Amino acid sequence: MTTHTRTGITWDYAPAPESADHIRIQDRYGLFLDGEFKDPRDGRYVPTINPATEEPVAEVAHGGPDDVTAAVASARAAQAKWAALEDLERAKYLFRIARLIQERSRELAVVETLDGGKPLRESRDVDIPLAAAHFFHYAGWADKLRYGVNAREVRPLGVVGQIVPWNFPLLMAAWKLAPALACGNVAILKPAETTPLTALLLAEICQEAELPPGVVTILPGDGSTGASLVRGVGGNRVDKIAFTGSTAVGRDIQAALAGTDTRLTLELGGKSANIVFEDAALDQAVEGIVNGIFYNQGHVCCAGSRLLIQESVRDEVIAKLWQRMGRLRVGDPMDKNTDVGAINSAEQLSRIEALVAAGEDEGATRRSIDCELPERGYWFAPTLFTDASPAHRIAVEEIFGPVVSVLTFRTQAEAIEKANNSRYGLAAGIWTDKGAKAFEVASALKAGVVWQNTYNHFDPTAAFGGYKESGFGREGGPAGLRPYLNVVR
Ligand code: NAD
Ligand code: MN
Repeated sequence: MTTHTRTGITWDYAPAPESADHIRIQDRYGLFLDGEFKDPRDGRYVPTINPATEEPVAEVAHGGPDDVTAAVASARAAQAKWAALEDLERAKYLFRIARLIQERSRELAVVETLDGGKPLRESRDVDIPLAAAHFFHYAGWADKLRYGVNAREVRPLGVVGQIVPWNFPLLMAAWKLAPALACGNVAILKPAETTPLTALLLAEICQEAELPPGVVTILPGDGSTGASLVRGVGGNRVDKIAFTGSTAVGRDIQAALAGTDTRLTLELGGKSANIVFEDAALDQAVEGIVNGIFYNQGHVCCAGSRLLIQESVRDEVIAKLWQRMGRLRVGDPMDKNTDVGAINSAEQLSRIEALVAAGEDEGATRRSIDCELPERGYWFAPTLFTDASPAHRIAVEEIFGPVVSVLTFRTQAEAIEKANNSRYGLAAGIWTDKGAKAFEVASALKAGVVWQNTYNHFDPTAAFGGYKESGFGREGGPAGLRPYLNVVR
């Protein structure tokens, strides 16, 4: 309910739900192996639920060790032929996949939202179009590989295993698959256990595109499936692992691969600083802060979760931010007016709740917006912590939820020092009217991506990746080709 200040008229948005009537979701999805959907060897299927309703959406095969063995064998058998194709022929397959994603975009957006809880507005306007854009982008690179990495001769790595998280399910699949295939590799993708459906629709798209069997394998399952893919079964390992997810699992994977010749890239967590200088356009900065931390319920590895505000404008920024937060619409992700949808899973909700409780215990001041939350499903009201100290857990650990912690600074040097005072280094934001200051600060920040006067902006041409415990390797643009190629000379 909103009351207009000048006229005093009280009004509310009418519901604007997207229809799911046109979507055909199967009751069950098998593994996508050898170009076909197949039952898992041990017959195990598990339901994936809609976190906004707690209702099952479909049953999905759970890949076990024998399925991993079959996947690696199928991929090995397909790789040489795929790599031997004319570069332009590989490009044509990628273009087809990109266009089919566009054709099925409405369906993909609805399924992404039903399976994962993110607002339809985001899956429709960001996740799906960007997934298509990644395939278009790397289709263009397939016949220009050596120019992308400045080499005379390049070769694919072979079979790559790719493990993705639940926060951007289709988009992360596209970030992984598009460059790998463009470079002549074949891929085995393991989607996250709570959000496997759009990857399985992408498998249907691979069929429609007549992609040769074995070039893409989709192996749904949980951490044990991922662990088998990393370690290999019966000595049959993949040639590279590309992982996006938590730092804890990233560390485990790195330890498992130490001393082997399996290549590795890791895109892990973050605790990114969003820095607001006193000379910034403050209303614009507030929009950027909101987009930085409440976008996708804060389930974003590069979320602007540490808000650094210059002391002279602290009170003004916090007042404007709190007022703006009050206008966020939390609830049904299928409603086109929803800004903040459902938390992805019960486990993630309890992680957020535990860290927020720690913030209160340690003495920071918590404010959560007053909003009606649906009775079923997993929800967390957008939350602001002030009076946080740099040592508080909420200022150090990744919360991965709609929770922002405010710290302050006096000088530019202090802003840089505080921003870099993190074991992570994925992204940062700088809000200032002074171009020279933005460049100076950006070059002093240990962060893979630095946004100036914007936040959470993604583009397939731009490299993305971390420093320190945020991982290594880059995805996107020509830099994203290098981790999928051997440079021969
Ligand atoms: P996770 O790292 O456990 O899961 C990510 C992917 O790795 C999933 O596909 C999962 O099945 C797989 N996996 C899990 N254990 C594995 C293992 N031992 N070997 C191989 N693969 C394995 O992430 P989570 O438990 O879903 O989330 C925990 C925390 O991770 C979140 O609170 C958040 O802080 C962080 N996270 C970060 C990102 C990111 O984009 N950087 C994404 C998701 C979660
Ligand atoms: Mn789900």
